[in-house]
Amino acid sequence: MAEVQVNSMETSQKPGGNVDAVIVGAGFAGLYMLHRMHGLGLSARLFEAGSSVGGTWFWNRYPGARCDVESLEYSYQFSEELQQEWVWTERYAPQSEILQYLNHVADRFALRRDIYLNTRVQAAIFDEATQRWTIETSTGDRVSAKFCVMATGCLSSTNTPHFTGLERFAGSSYHTGNWPHEGVDFTDKRVGVIGTGSSGIQSIPLIAQQASHLFVFQRTPTYTIPAHNGPLDSEVERAIKANYANFREQNKQMLFGVDFQYNEASALETTPEERQREYEERWTYGGLPFLGAFADLLFSKEANDTAAEFVREKIRAIVHDPTIAEQLAPRTVVGCKRLCVDTGYYDTFNRSNVTLVEVSDSPIEEITEHGLRVKGKEYELDAIVFATGFDAMTGSLLKIDIRGKGGRSLKEAWAEGPRTYLGVATVGFPNLFTITGPGSPSVLTNMIPSIEQHVEWIADCIRYMCDHGFACIEPTLAAQDAWVDHVNEVAGATLYPTCNSWYLGANIPGKPRVFMPYIGFPPYVQKCNDVAAKGYAGFLLIRGHDGEREVELSRG
Ligand code: FAD
Ligand code: NAP
Repeated sequence: MAEVQVNSMETSQKPGGNVDAVIVGAGFAGLYMLHRMHGLGLSARLFEAGSSVGGTWFWNRYPGARCDVESLEYSYQFSEELQQEWVWTERYAPQSEILQYLNHVADRFALRRDIYLNTRVQAAIFDEATQRWTIETSTGDRVSAKFCVMATGCLSSTNTPHFTGLERFAGSSYHTGNWPHEGVDFTDKRVGVIGTGSSGIQSIPLIAQQASHLFVFQRTPTYTIPAHNGPLDSEVERAIKANYANFREQNKQMLFGVDFQYNEASALETTPEERQREYEERWTYGGLPFLGAFADLLFSKEANDTAAEFVREKIRAIVHDPTIAEQLAPRTVVGCKRLCVDTGYYDTFNRSNVTLVEVSDSPIEEITEHGLRVKGKEYELDAIVFATGFDAMTGSLLKIDIRGKGGRSLKEAWAEGPRTYLGVATVGFPNLFTITGPGSPSVLTNMIPSIEQHVEWIADCIRYMCDHGFACIEPTLAAQDAWVDHVNEVAGATLYPTCNSWYLGANIPGKPRVFMPYIGFPPYVQKCNDVAAKGYAGFLLIRGHDGEREVELSRG
């Protein structure tokens, strides 16, 4: 083996020096990657900007934060013991419990010795002479690593839009994605929430219960399906745990890697009565499986319209004031922006202390010292909550000064939108892996199986390189170009590109409009497996400088 130090004992307490691998980020992805590095016998260091592990679940502590994929699925499956012994208390686990789970994982698999908290990676520079990455951190350390794995998260770079006057605001302001650990007491406060995506939908009903008055500033109304959350049914838990591996395996065969109880029928070939019954059953069951009601919902506008109208009717039935109900009723395609799952969202607008303020036609003009102004009217506020989302999928990666071959930055390489092979690697950046990177199913799946699949693929790839004496791996341009075309082609056959979603980068001014996730977990996994089985088809495998030979094993 050329340069990888197998069975290295290096577990230094000091972040500088040489290691086999650096991992960035201590969420679900980084923690499991570190565990697999340990399994390979490699020395690894994990850097995390936050003061604890947990990633998403460390940062997003706003009222009501919880997963919207059911707990028994929104969890790791790599360890049968772990999935058997951990007990989730609710159908959809709250943020605090998921954070507790990830801390348990860090302890159970002895990960903490290699984790450096409060440490932001600022740069990663590839040196062609040594075929190693130099990683520079906010604590002034420099580490040299053979492999660099970005586990920086798809939704980890918060987006606070530019509002004139924000700095003048005399009250308190918060972003849902960076919530104070001690919590926020809104009692007797006039609160404004900007944003009605998943974070807004989850927090608005709870903030409304505390605040003296809540103003919801809505630019685009959102489809949301009731969660019907509650204590986890012990019978359901027992049945799933009795056959957990099978349950997981079946779910991996689903389009989004999650049990949506897919119906193969077409909405358009079903009678209106049957359609209504199907939607009603799913509304009563609750959550994201609503999208599995008919096979053509995400492919045919006409089919989608039937689901959209069903939800609009529900809104009209829940919200007493017909004008407010119409303002809350979305007109876009259901599922085009991420479908939300709520507890009492629409009903919140029946409260006398809640006001819906539409900012679609007339945007928020400015933030003033005492509130914010829309259409010339000032809304006086003690606190503003930005539920305005994230610079998704590329934000955290591009904040790091990543430089590959020839000193070319990732920012330059992705200037017209991210270009990857399988979402896991990019031409010109050898031995740099991105977990759930753009071009992989990632955010269009239950993210935990997607993360596990990427981590396992990367670990297998590194093992293969070690076994065969390869020092570097990077995609061929032809394979990358073909993959990017394929990702676009698949997206183009669906309704996804028809709205201004963060999947397209449309929420960030100036961001190239490119559909970033790959649609379809099973075909994606098949492709990754085929690539590996063919000796990493579509990748260039390069021997160490003493080995001298570049081997392109096969073409993508
Ligand atoms: P993250 O959990 O985002 O972790 C990335 C970590 O990298 C962060 O801790 C960050 O601080 C760190 N980091 C980033 N850049 C640097 C740097 N330069 N230096 C050092 N550290 C860095 N997905 C689902 O499938 N189902 C759900 O129900 C669901 N609910 C969600 C709810 C919320 C509120 C949000 C925001 C997202 C949700 N997601 C959900 C998506 C969620 O992000 C993933 O499920 C998963 O937690 C991602 O794990 P990760 O490890 O890839 O990234
Ligand atoms: P988001 O879905 O991007 O929503 C942001 C909201 O802010 C949108 O309503 C957006 O309006 C609004 N907004 C942005 N800029 C604005 C401006 N200048 N003026 C007025 N409104 C503005 O972000 P998010 O709610 O944080 O969710 C992001 C993703 O994280 C979700 O899609 C999901 O994948 C995940 N998440 C999941 C859960 C869960 O239930 N488990 C909870 C939270 C987050 P427009 O729509 O008009 O752009």
